[in-house]
Amino acid sequence: MKQIALYGKGGIGKSTTSANLSAALSDRGLDILQIGCDPKRDSTRMLMRGRLIPTVMDLVRERGDRSLTLDDVVFEGYRGVRCVEAGGPEPGVGCAGRGIIATFQILERLGALHGDVVVYDVLGDVVCGGFAMPMREGYAEEVYLVTSGELMSLYAANNICKAIKRLSSRAKSKTRLAGVICNAKNLPREDELVARFAEQIGSTMVQFIPRDPVVQLAELNKMTVIEYAPESSQAGAYRDLAGKVLENTRLDVPEPLEIEELESLAYEFIAI
Ligand code: SF4
Repeated sequence: MKQIALYGKGGIGKSTTSANLSAALSDRGLDILQIGCDPKRDSTRMLMRGRLIPTVMDLVRERGDRSLTLDDVVFEGYRGVRCVEAGGPEPGVGCAGRGIIATFQILERLGALHGDVVVYDVLGDVVCGGFAMPMREGYAEEVYLVTSGELMSLYAANNICKAIKRLSSRAKSKTRLAGVICNAKNLPREDELVARFAEQIGSTMVQFIPRDPVVQLAELNKMTVIEYAPESSQAGAYRDLAGKVLENTRLDVPEPLEIEELESLAYEFIAI
């Protein structure tokens, strides 16, 4: 079982990337579990044809964790992808990781943590005190950083590298950086910039995902791009990503950049 996690700045497109990745993986006949952890609970929404499923934390608050069954927390979406939303407290409050840890414990007790690939889509934001929890507890073994060429998302990706580096030194941690995904914003030479960033932190850019209006169109129709426009080149990019994730054996302990190094790298590309 591969346990992968997608991390990156809020709003960078982690949920869209995760949902399309899960859909592309399930098209290959694999058993996929996607776990979203965000109070907005929209990680799995496009896999569920627009349905917002109840969050594990809301169910725990309403009914207590002992009475919950598998059917209460795991929902079947596109091509059998099993969807879970951890949820959390009020947006902006943070749960210090309690939401996602409680969810892991419940999923383990119910025997839901199985399959070919588990995709964790975790909010990597300052409002979220628990974003490192899947890494710390050994659930996120392969981390993919989702970033664009914008300085703020590179900055967030670099900060996540610091967390990976710190946690990877712990004996029980299996967390490693598996690669960088560029979710493009259509900036000039963005692919080169993100590839250079990936190289400098000791990793590699596994996939460039272009910006394409079909993503919005699919979401308006409450579907992933894989389902809505399977013949599109954008769906092809997600399928390529799925193939690379399955084959990837490269796992690194990253070397985060100093802020000055990051800025001068970004400047090199912006100044030209
Ligand atoms: S870990 Fe973060 S995103 Fe997840 S439930 Fe807690 S506060 Fe929310």
